[in-house]
Amino acid sequence: MYFSKMFLPTMREVPAEAEIISHKLMLRAGLIRKLASGIYSFLPLGYRVLKKIKQVVREEMDGIGGQELLMSALLPSESFRESGRWEVFGPEMFRLKDRNDRDFCLGPTHEEIFTLTVKNSLRSYRSLPVILYQIQTKYRDELRPRFGVMRSREFIMKDAYSFDRDEAGLDDSYKKMDRAYRRIFDRLGLEYKVVEADSGAMGGSGSQEFMVISEAGEDGIAYCKTCGYGANEEKAGCLPADDHSDECPEDIIKIHTPNIHTITELTGFLGCDASRMAKTLIYKADGELIAAMVRGDRELNEVKLKNVLGCTELEMADAESVRAVTNADVGFAGPAGLKIRIIADHEVAMGRNFIVGANETDYHLKNINFGRDFSAEVHDIRCISGEDKCPCCGEKITLARGIEVGHIFKLGTRYTEALGCNYIDEEGNERPMVMGCYGIGINRTIAAVIEQHHDENGIIWPMGIAPYHVIIVPVNVLDENVMKVSEEMYRRLAEAGVEVILDDRNERAGVKFMDADLIGIPIRINVGRKAAEGIVEYKPRGGKEALSMTVDEALEKVLSVCKYDR
Ligand code: ATP
Ligand code: MG
Repeated sequence: MYFSKMFLPTMREVPAEAEIISHKLMLRAGLIRKLASGIYSFLPLGYRVLKKIKQVVREEMDGIGGQELLMSALLPSESFRESGRWEVFGPEMFRLKDRNDRDFCLGPTHEEIFTLTVKNSLRSYRSLPVILYQIQTKYRDELRPRFGVMRSREFIMKDAYSFDRDEAGLDDSYKKMDRAYRRIFDRLGLEYKVVEADSGAMGGSGSQEFMVISEAGEDGIAYCKTCGYGANEEKAGCLPADDHSDECPEDIIKIHTPNIHTITELTGFLGCDASRMAKTLIYKADGELIAAMVRGDRELNEVKLKNVLGCTELEMADAESVRAVTNADVGFAGPAGLKIRIIADHEVAMGRNFIVGANETDYHLKNINFGRDFSAEVHDIRCISGEDKCPCCGEKITLARGIEVGHIFKLGTRYTEALGCNYIDEEGNERPMVMGCYGIGINRTIAAVIEQHHDENGIIWPMGIAPYHVIIVPVNVLDENVMKVSEEMYRRLAEAGVEVILDDRNERAGVKFMDADLIGIPIRINVGRKAAEGIVEYKPRGGKEALSMTVDEALEKVLSVCKYDR
C-alpha cells in the first residue's frame, strides 16, 4: 500500500472525552471514528486489525471443533420471553417493533437463539456434543458507554455455545474452551489473569473471566502469586480477620453521639478504630427491607449480598424506609431489636463488643455481641482489601485492575429447560441438553492490546495482529536512488506475502517517522542517502536502535521476523 493512497485520517488533537490511552490512540491513529455515543466506525487500518483478531479467534475455535455460523442481529422477542430475559435485560436491550406491531430486539447476546436453533435441529444423543459459534455484532444500550470501543453500544462479539449430554460433557467442553481462550490471548500478546466470576443475569453454575491487567480496567480483580487463585473482586472470597474474638462480652452501654452519622465521624468522636464498629446498612431487596452488617473498616459487597439473598433488584433503602424500620434517622441503625432479616458478615459474628447504632437518633450502643444481643444469617458479604489473605492458600493476595475481554460460563440447563431443548438418550428418555456459553469482545480486545502495547509516541502492534508488518520510509522521495531502492524492497516484500506500506509522501522524514510510530507498524525500514551503496536502516518499533544493513540483509531479517512472529 502506498501511504499517499491510504484512507488514514490521523488526528493531532483528540476530544477531551477520550480519557484512556487506547481510546486516544485509536482516534489519533485513524483506527476508529465516533458516530454517536458508544457507536464507532472502524476505518481501514482499524478494520485490518479487527479482521486479524477475528482470524486468531476463528482458528482457535475451529481448532477445538467449533463450527462457525452467522445469526441475525434482529431477533424476535418470543424466545427471550420464554427464558424470562425480555424483562431481565431492562433498558439495556434495544427494542423495536415491526410494521405489524410485533416485538423485536437487537440481540445483546444469543443464548436463546442458539438454544432454539439446536432444539429444532438435533434430537439424538449421537449428535452431541456440539460447539457452535459466530463472530457477530451485538447491541447493548449501556448505561455509561465510555472509553471508545471498550464499552460501546454496538460491538462485535465472538459468542460460542456448547451443547452436551450431561455435566461431565459440559466440563469437557468448558475445559477445551478455557484452553482455546488462553491460546487466543497468548497469541495476541496479552498479559492476563483468568479469574472466577459472578454469573450475574446469565445464570448457571460457574464462570471465569479473562482479565487483561491494566489500570484502565473497569473491574477489580484479586489474585494470588503463590497458588494461582484469581477472582473478580465481586466474587473474591474473604477470610475473616480474627481480631477481637478472644474478648469477653461486656455490658451494653448507650452513648450519646449527637449528629454523628458516619463511621469516620464516629471514629473521630469516640477516638477508636473503625474495626471496633459494625455498620448496619438497610437495603431494599426485591421490595423487601433487610439489614446487612459488616465491620466499620470494611466495605459491603453488594454482589455477594445479592447472591445470598437470591434477589434481582438490590438498592439502599431511602431515608423514609430506614426511619420506618429503625425509628431513627439514617446513620443510627443497629441490629439490636431490629425486626427485619439481618445478614451479617463473618467478622461481625466472630468479633466482640462492637459499637453499633442504637436505632434511636443521636445514640449508639457499645459492647453489642452477635448471639447475645442479636441474631443474623452469617455469610461472607464484604469486599476484599489489599491486606487480605488468599482464601485458598492463606498467602498475601494481590489486587489489580482488569479489562474483561472474555467470559466463559457453565450454563447447565438454564436455557435448554426453559426453551425445551431436549435430546433422546440411549435408553430413549428425553433429557435437557447441558449448555455452556463463551464470549470474547473483539473490539474491546483491540483496545486492551493497545493499553498494554504502546509508548509515548503511539501504538506498538504485536506482529500477529499488526495492520501491516513493515513500513518503508524513503527519507527523500525526490532522490532517485532512494526511491529505486524503496520501490524494489516494497515489491520484493509484497511478493513474499509481507504486508507492507511505502511512505511515498513528500514529507519531512521526521513527520513520516512520527506517523509510522503512531500507527505502530512493527518494523520500519529507513531508506536514506546510503541507498546508493545499497545500505538501509532496520528499525523495530519497540526498539531504540536503527540498525544499518544491506538491502538483502534487511529483507532477510524482515522475512524471518515476520515468519517467526506471525
Ligand atoms: P461487562 O461486565 O464489561 O459489561 P459483560 O459481563 O456484560 O461485560 P458478557 O455478556 O460476558 O459481558 O459478554 C462477553 C464479552 O463481550 C465480554 O467479556 C466483553 O469482552 C464483551 N463486551 C460486553 N459488553 C461490551 C460492550 N458494551 N462493549 C464492548 N465489548 C463488550
Ligand atoms: Mg455488561
